Amino acid sequence: MTDYEQRAPGCFIDGKRVHGTGPGVVVRSPWSGEDLLTLSSASREDVSQAVAVAQTVFTAWQATTAGERAEHLMNFAALLDEHADELAELQVRENGKLLKEMAGQAKLFGDHLRYYASLLRMPCGYVVEPPIGGMRVHTERVPLGVVAAITPWNSPLNLLLWKLGPALAVGNVVVIKPSEITPLSTLRLAELATQAGLPPGVVNVVTGAAGPGQYLVENRAVAKVAFTGSSAAGEQIARAAAIGLRRVSLELGGKSANVVFADADHEQAIRGTLAGIFGASGQTCMAGSRILVESRALPVFLERLVETADRMRVGDPFDDTTDMGPIASAAQLSKIETMVDAAVAAGATLRAGGCRAQVEQFPNGLYYRPTVLSDVTPDMPIFQEEVFGPVACVMPFDDEDEAISLANDTRFGLAAGVWTSDRARSDRMASQLRAGTVWVNNYRKVAYNVPFGGIGMSGVGRENGYQCLDSYTETKSVWVDQGLGIRDPFNPRAR
Ligand code: NAP
Repeated sequence: MTDYEQRAPGCFIDGKRVHGTGPGVVVRSPWSGEDLLTLSSASREDVSQAVAVAQTVFTAWQATTAGERAEHLMNFAALLDEHADELAELQVRENGKLLKEMAGQAKLFGDHLRYYASLLRMPCGYVVEPPIGGMRVHTERVPLGVVAAITPWNSPLNLLLWKLGPALAVGNVVVIKPSEITPLSTLRLAELATQAGLPPGVVNVVTGAAGPGQYLVENRAVAKVAFTGSSAAGEQIARAAAIGLRRVSLELGGKSANVVFADADHEQAIRGTLAGIFGASGQTCMAGSRILVESRALPVFLERLVETADRMRVGDPFDDTTDMGPIASAAQLSKIETMVDAAVAAGATLRAGGCRAQVEQFPNGLYYRPTVLSDVTPDMPIFQEEVFGPVACVMPFDDEDEAISLANDTRFGLAAGVWTSDRARSDRMASQLRAGTVWVNNYRKVAYNVPFGGIGMSGVGRENGYQCLDSYTETKSVWVDQGLGIRDPFNPRAR
């Protein structure tokens, strides 16, 4: 067999797994270090073909009734429920997220779709009486056409469903481009969509490293790009989509603050802040990477934080007793090491971690210890830039004003947490924190019916919640004459 023949088909177009004609891309397991397989990735022609197929199918798909699309989504949801364990395991193989976390997430995949199916039973559009006699206006919601859904590696399926649910519900067709690190789970999910009865071509996938994403965004037949990923790529995508004035929604990075006041329940705050930064090995956009602690509580809080970080078990993501899994790629691991080393060289104090973790069972796995840094200053890159790894910066503050000023001292604005037993204070903080989401006495909670998104470099637009349907539709206003006759514009005396 030739090298090409050994590759697994890396695209899903028109309801079938097909080979791409781009270069082969090796999918690696970050937790064991082994190569899983090589995929034939998409070339520019393959991407064009996927978009053309989607465009052709769009005419029939947008003409389906809301009830028919709701039924399709419900059938797809049922199949996702049935395959939740399989999808969870597949994603863990690719990105090393803990199976115990992933399994819980996968159980809710179907609910994402059921939520949007249920919204299709709500009234859409409204009637307006304009200030012009004899006229009535109603509005309609019309789909955009081909939506490009581009996803990152840290939570590829969940973040994909945030896009697929609303896009399909209102009658769009989709071409997905997953990260080169996590293509397999996405390809499987697309197969299930077709198996559930969605017409071939409504959901397509193109895979590959640096190339297919860009080809997709540049394709003028793509009406909207729904993107989750880094701020740098988000800026590039916004620029590319500006050609042709096409829509974007951008869910980007973060440098979120978790603010702990001395009056907080300490046990809860320690658990919440630890989970906020070390959950998913810190590889989440909403990671609470800046932990701000009221000065008088800092010594005890920091000691407990360090103690717990040191005790955490790093290793096999399939093992129930593991606290933290691997870093998803060698490039990401090296970025984390570089940023931590630079912070220490700039004067930060390493309190925990700061090195690779050796996992006996998997000597080639990509593991890093949960890391805590103190003596960080706001001018340090570690305080300002997203690490996207298990690295917490801990800083003291003296009062609310200083806490707000430190928390908001960032070009990002994705999320923030506040820990306090004072209700009035939490309200004041929530209104002043510059972030798309604020959690009070909890952290890192998201749901399909709660809007999520960022401010500033954290993005444009919101996903989840009923309002996000607007970002997948155009509003059309239809003016209807009530039959009172049209005045002759050139003869004011005649009726
Ligand atoms: P990334 O490098 O920006 O890549 C994300 C996706 O975009 C990948 O599929 C990538 O493909 C593709 N891509 C990159 N540059 C592109 C371009 N110029 N045109 C079209 N597509 C392009 O991000 P990542 O490293 O996968 O994920 C980590 C980032 O995602 C972090 O910054 C994190 O904060 C962010 N994130 C945000 C949220 C949120 O909801 N706000 C959620 C999760 C993650 P290839 O890399 O395969 O080429």
